[in-house]
Amino acid sequence: MFEEGLELKKIHGEDAVCDLSLGNPDLEPPAEFAETLIALARDPAMGLHRYMPNAGFLEARAAVAAMVAREQGVDPLADGVCMTVGAAGALNVIMKSLLDPGDEVLVPSPFFPEYEFYADNHQGRLVPVSTRPDFSLDLEAIEKALSPRTKIVLLNAPNNPTGRVYPREDVQRLGALIDRRAPQATLVSDEPYRRIVFGGVKVPSVLGATARSAVASSFSKDLGLAGERIGFLALHPSHPDRVGLLAAFSFANRTLGFVNAPALLQRLVARLTHARVDVGVYEKRARLVMEGLARGGYRCVAPEGGMFVFPASPSSDDVAFVQRLAREEKVLVVPGSGFGAPGHFRLSLAVPTEVLERAVPRLVRAAR
Ligand code: PLP
Repeated sequence: MFEEGLELKKIHGEDAVCDLSLGNPDLEPPAEFAETLIALARDPAMGLHRYMPNAGFLEARAAVAAMVAREQGVDPLADGVCMTVGAAGALNVIMKSLLDPGDEVLVPSPFFPEYEFYADNHQGRLVPVSTRPDFSLDLEAIEKALSPRTKIVLLNAPNNPTGRVYPREDVQRLGALIDRRAPQATLVSDEPYRRIVFGGVKVPSVLGATARSAVASSFSKDLGLAGERIGFLALHPSHPDRVGLLAAFSFANRTLGFVNAPALLQRLVARLTHARVDVGVYEKRARLVMEGLARGGYRCVAPEGGMFVFPASPSSDDVAFVQRLAREEKVLVVPGSGFGAPGHFRLSLAVPTEVLERAVPRLVRAAR
């Protein structure tokens, strides 16, 4: 999609094309980011750019543990945190640590397409489970899909692509279900969009749902640092396999080739766990798009957070619709099929508002 967008822009000009295909945060990091970066760069202490313990600087791990404790109501403790190369690094580290060949990663669908490749990296198998029509969890379907090979149940909220945040009761019930029916599994919450929520929605705690849980996250979206590759894993303090898993995280973090999260960024986020981009901008954009989609007669579950909107496509062939939208309206979006949800398409809110303003009438016309 990225290449296609560039190609179309070359032919028709920048302004003619509305590229809503990518989730590349367009909001600049908060002002404190540059100030802290400059202060750190000027720090005369020696050895700041050397290797550190594989799981990261203790200072960064302690700051992240305190942040997770505030958000989750459960303190993973500094030694339960591993600094990683983004949320993608965190997910690969935990999959490497938990999966044996043939083990299963159960994920509610629609889901972030890279999960399939992450599981495959570690000879695991992704098992998508349908959600309900409003993209909420179908706990009966999850229960049926659990097997002795289920090692990870992977949640993502706010969800990419749907923007759905699962209610607290559902997350609690899922935790209890894992404890009862799949005590070999760990509930992993991938939550790089946790702090991008709309209308006061709260993302429930997975660490509060079962001791067999972990959080994988990053500062890519809420601090606008996607290119800097800084994230973390936080394990429940009472996970029954805690000692072995923390050793595995630390080993995998290095041997997968990530070789620690970047030193400067670790020290930086340790000082910025309270900061974030102006989340209200994403919320306003979501409202703008939802109003436009309603005018066009699209069916769409309103996002509760994140950076995407995921409407039903007017024709059941989402790929054909997306291609037509690109050809006839120069609007680039992503077919739902890639997210395990044919008949839908994903559009990104991580573009300047004026691009969305230009795209909306075209989407309305396309539906008609
Ligand atoms: N998980 C989800 C749901 C994502 O959307 C993304 C990135 O778009 C990632 C993980 C990877 O995040 P990071 O860039 O922090 O590695």
